[in-house]
Amino acid sequence: MVTSSLSHESPIIIVGAGVFGLSSALYLAQAGYTNITVFDKQPYDKNAYSTADGADAASADFNKVMRMSYGEELDYQRLAWDAIQVWRVWNKQISSSSSHDLPKGLTSSDKVWNNCGFLRMSTDDELTQFEKSTLENITREGLRSTQFVIGDPDDEKRAPHYFREGEWHKKSDPFHRRRQGKSLAGVFDTTAGFVEASKACTWTMHLCRKSGVRFVLGEKAGQVSFFVKSPDGNKTIGIRTADGKEHRSEFLILAAGAWTPYLFPTISPMLETTAGSVVYFQLPPQKDAPHLWERFSPDNFPVFAYGGWSKGAGIGGFPRTSDGIVKIGYRGTKHTNYEEVQDQNTGTKHRISVPKTRYWPHPSEPTITKQAVEAIKAVVVEALPELAELGIAGCRNCWYIDSLDNGFIIDRVPGDGGMMVCSGGSGHGFKFLPILGREVVNIIEKPNEKSPIAKLWQWRTKSTGPKNGLEQGESGPRNWTRQEMATRRDFNFGETAKL
Ligand SMILES: Cc1cc2nc3c(=O)[nH]c(=O)nc-3n(C[C@H](O)[C@H](O)[C@H](O)COP(=O)(O)OP(=O)(O)OC[C@H]3O[C@@H](n4cnc5c(N)ncnc54)[C@H](O)[C@@H]3O)c2cc1C
Repeated sequence: MVTSSLSHESPIIIVGAGVFGLSSALYLAQAGYTNITVFDKQPYDKNAYSTADGADAASADFNKVMRMSYGEELDYQRLAWDAIQVWRVWNKQISSSSSHDLPKGLTSSDKVWNNCGFLRMSTDDELTQFEKSTLENITREGLRSTQFVIGDPDDEKRAPHYFREGEWHKKSDPFHRRRQGKSLAGVFDTTAGFVEASKACTWTMHLCRKSGVRFVLGEKAGQVSFFVKSPDGNKTIGIRTADGKEHRSEFLILAAGAWTPYLFPTISPMLETTAGSVVYFQLPPQKDAPHLWERFSPDNFPVFAYGGWSKGAGIGGFPRTSDGIVKIGYRGTKHTNYEEVQDQNTGTKHRISVPKTRYWPHPSEPTITKQAVEAIKAVVVEALPELAELGIAGCRNCWYIDSLDNGFIIDRVPGDGGMMVCSGGSGHGFKFLPILGREVVNIIEKPNEKSPIAKLWQWRTKSTGPKNGLEQGESGPRNWTRQEMATRRDFNFGETAKL
């Protein structure tokens, strides 16, 4: 029987100030724990999670999709619904704060949550099985009226009454497929939209600080290089940071995102670090192209998944940011980067996939695979020719931490009473920033009364069958060494842009 021997005064260390670490810290502090310190190697207090200023975790980004559409996964759907309620409250809290009550990087006009809607469309005439299951589960929760199935006579009839004038047309067919006589099937989800990722992390860090959480940030003081173990080696009792200092903990939460296996290679049969490919289009200044700013504004343009959420090339995109940036991502293949990593505690060497970002381990010019660029360009040429004329302005590898089954892993490390892993975001963790920690506290405080969520996220291995690509290992086709990387020349569209 596992017991929770933590008192409210017990020193708790959280490694990682991304979504998983921040949300855990916030809810633990709100539950009465008074001695929480979050360590992160990145100076988020200085760069406010801004990727332009060097932040490079998955949680540091312009925008992420907020959706409660989860196919058959009702637990995630419910959790996402709960999260939406808190996102709304956060918007209100920010807008009613005076500027001196807000942290660097936030103003009272910022909205961390934008309910612009999410269009998941197929280029054939069929709704995917994922959409059908989602509709069933949303109907089951009494929320069917929030969903609009394109082409469904009832939904098409009520749409003009639900949306602002002209909005339904713009948001349900932003690629003008009907006008071109092309087929269009899909669902427009009015509960969904995007969250402003870096700003939301800045806000959560601010809430944490107000609740008494301490942050130790930066390359030396905040970077964890070693877990300190009890003399018998059975319990984690603290960390050593890159400045050589030791910090003691009663309980340690490892929430290092894509760096989790790098720091704790024992987890590598369950979690794998993979690269997601993202490109940016920069709109010309607003005065020179007001029509483009209008067209891609969240008021007129939705978050979209092109060709289906769970099939097709995995292309999705967002309305423009306030700086006129349109982000488009490719999920068709998540790439791996295998390197030799030495477990700092055991000395054992492992070959595992690790992040290689623009800033880590060394600054480098970002590039993504040609496969990703070609897939995005094909969609842009077909569906968003205005962007093709601009060309791709920049790219990024954003590092996922994928679990065996795309579910999170939030559980105590077996055999170590002092450590928990809180990770496995698998490309869909951001939306839960305002709610994830609630479940973390439950998992910590009630180790023997496992809720459905706690069971979903428990420590698990899989001996047979596919393991979400983990089984491919270094010799698999997704390995970066087997990919052709794009060059700046590939970012241009050439003649095709004039289509
Ligand atoms: C391309 C892409 C698209 C995504 N799109 C969506 C989406 O649309 N919707 C959605 O809900 N989710 C999305 N996600 C998933 C979401 O971004 C992640 O699930 C979430 O941000 C993960 O948070 P995290 O805290 O686990 O990891 P991270 O954000 O990576 O944070 C981990 C932190 O640990 C720190 N750290 C690492 N090593 C150390 C060390 N040695 N010492 C101290 N600190 C350390 C890092 O600096 C970092 O700040 C996407 C992810 C990617 C990659």
